[in-house]
Amino acid sequence: MAVYNIHGGHNPSGKIACGASDLLDESREDRKICKEVVRLLKKKGHKAYNCTVSNGTSQTDVLRKICTKCNKRQAALDVSIHLNSGRNDHKGDKKIAGTEIWCTQSVGIKKTVGNRILANMKKLGFTNRGIKTTGNLYYLNHTINKAILIEVCFVDDKDDYDLYKKTGYKKIAKAIADGITG
Ligand SMILES: [Zn+2]
Repeated sequence: MAVYNIHGGHNPSGKIACGASDLLDESREDRKICKEVVRLLKKKGHKAYNCTVSNGTSQTDVLRKICTKCNKRQAALDVSIHLNSGRNDHKGDKKIAGTEIWCTQSVGIKKTVGNRILANMKKLGFTNRGIKTTGNLYYLNHTINKAILIEVCFVDDKDDYDLYKKTGYKKIAKAIADGITG
C-alpha cells in the first residue's frame, strides 16, 4: 500500500487560470482522467488523494493551493495531469504528437514511473516524447514529495484529438494508474 497525490492542472474550464482549450479542453479532460486515476489506485488498495484545485484566484494562486494540498501528507509520488498545446495542427498530419513527462530530475521513482506511463501510453498509440527535466515549474519545485507532471497529449492536434476520442479517458487513466503502481 502506498500513498499518492493526484491532481488535474489549472482551474476549471471557463474560469480564470483555466487550462488550454482547443479541440480538447484541458481542464475538463484532466479532471476526468484524474478522478479515474484516483479511483483505480484506490481499487488497487492504495491511498490516493485528489488535490485538484477549483477555486484559484489566479494562476499563481492555483499552483500555491495545489502544493498546499499535496504537502499536507507524505506520499510516494505526486502526479500532475495536464494536456499539452502548441502543435496547432487542426487538419491532422497523420502524426500523433503524444505524451511527455516533466520532472526536476529523471531519477528514482520519477524515472521508473515516468517511463512506465510513457510505455503504457505508447501501447495506446500515443508517441513517446520522453521524460523532460526542468527547474522552472512551480509545482515541481514546491512539492515536498517526489513529483511528476504528465502532458497526456495535445489539445490542438487533430491526430491526438482523434486518438484521444477513440481511446477514451478511462483507458488513458488506466495507463497512468498502472504506470504509477507498476
Ligand atoms: Zn496545463
